[in-house]
Amino acid sequence: MQFDTVIRGGTIVTAMDTYAGDIGILDGRITSIAQMLPVENATKVIDATARLVMPGGIDAHTHLDMPFGGTNSADDFESGTIAAAYGGTTTLIDFAIQLKGQSLRQAFETWMKKADRKAAIDYAFHCIITDLGDAQLEEMNTLIHEGVSSFKLFMAYPGVLMVDDATIFRAMSQAAKYNGLICMHAENGGVIDVLVRKALAEGKRAPKYHALTRPTTAEGEATGRAIALAEMAGAPVYIVHLSCNDALEKVREARDRGVPVYAETCPQYLYLSLENMDAPGFEAAKYVFTPPLREKWHQEKLWQGLARDTLQVVSTDHCPFCFKEQKELGRDDFTKIPNGGPGIEHRLSLVYTGGVHGGRFSPNRFVQLVATAPAKLFGLYPRKGTIAVGADADIVVFDPNESQVISASTHHMKVDYSMFEGIRVKGVPKTVLSRGRPVIENGKFVGRAGSGEFIRRQGFTGA
Ligand SMILES: [Zn+2]
Repeated sequence: MQFDTVIRGGTIVTAMDTYAGDIGILDGRITSIAQMLPVENATKVIDATARLVMPGGIDAHTHLDMPFGGTNSADDFESGTIAAAYGGTTTLIDFAIQLKGQSLRQAFETWMKKADRKAAIDYAFHCIITDLGDAQLEEMNTLIHEGVSSFKLFMAYPGVLMVDDATIFRAMSQAAKYNGLICMHAENGGVIDVLVRKALAEGKRAPKYHALTRPTTAEGEATGRAIALAEMAGAPVYIVHLSCNDALEKVREARDRGVPVYAETCPQYLYLSLENMDAPGFEAAKYVFTPPLREKWHQEKLWQGLARDTLQVVSTDHCPFCFKEQKELGRDDFTKIPNGGPGIEHRLSLVYTGGVHGGRFSPNRFVQLVATAPAKLFGLYPRKGTIAVGADADIVVFDPNESQVISASTHHMKVDYSMFEGIRVKGVPKTVLSRGRPVIENGKFVGRAGSGEFIRRQGFTGA
């Protein structure tokens, strides 16, 4: 048996099983899994003794090189994918944004150019629809066939990204017809806009008012409405960055009735809370993202949601803006603070720490949340998202017992602060392979910008 690489002596963990085994890799794919593989003919042998061998993480929600409020998110496809690789993520799904008047293809091509020759891991795109005329409605079908099989719509940011219920309903109906999946940013943008203007008129301009003008009820209402629209359209729907119990209850209730509703949350909602917005001075701008941080009690509800499959995915919504010069744009007005936070690098460690070490779910459920479920929902499975013969050799060799303190002084994202500064995690990726090529070895980047490929995703077939 001939292999390029053999991963030897580890404990293989998939969403289903945990077992001791060696993995043989040839030409970028897993070609053999056995209790003991011959290594004489292998070019490279990776010793995984006392480590977990898991499928590479899939981050279904990132914003690299994204324009927002006159600036751009601080990580491009090079620095962002390298930081992702450090954290054990081997595929990300970013968002190509259609500007008003553009075709969906123009959006897709713009983002393909941004990623070209820069990405160090594989990537795919959702398409954000802001303007859905008849031509763009037809284009949805074409894009699905070209591997862009999911679309995101906004119920927030009126005048910029928000679309009305009729547009959402038309998009969902079209997605249902052609096996697409609609992702929803669910917040009641109209109400929030009124609350924001009222706050500003009252002279409330500090970062904290970003959170206080976006109530949990606004997210709960929009989540319920998105689900109702999907039911009427006969379409599945995926709620992005769910942050609070109000929205969680809507998803749980719909899933109990058998409605195909799926939802993700992000580490910031599991680890941070409204209390972070009390940071002195302008510090709280570090936590200005949307939906905002919530009261602390929501955290445990979200962890329970992950354990009980009300929530299926943890993604990051990585959208980094530096504190200096970017977040500072809103020093005198919270509405001018670029919305977003950096998180692409620490998703696996944070979820493993709180989920598995925290006693809330098994390592298998962990793998499902960070890799297998996003792969299935977004048409990447079984090529990605599991360890199986024939799958891409996107693999993380993970030390479940090594500790690390998260800090901006040691992270690899191109941003001057960390949302998780000082948090100790237990469980660290040591070696990461992307289609068989090492990208991280013993905690060091050994990959190459440009070696990541665009992945054409399959249409939606269910979870
Ligand atoms: Zn986002």
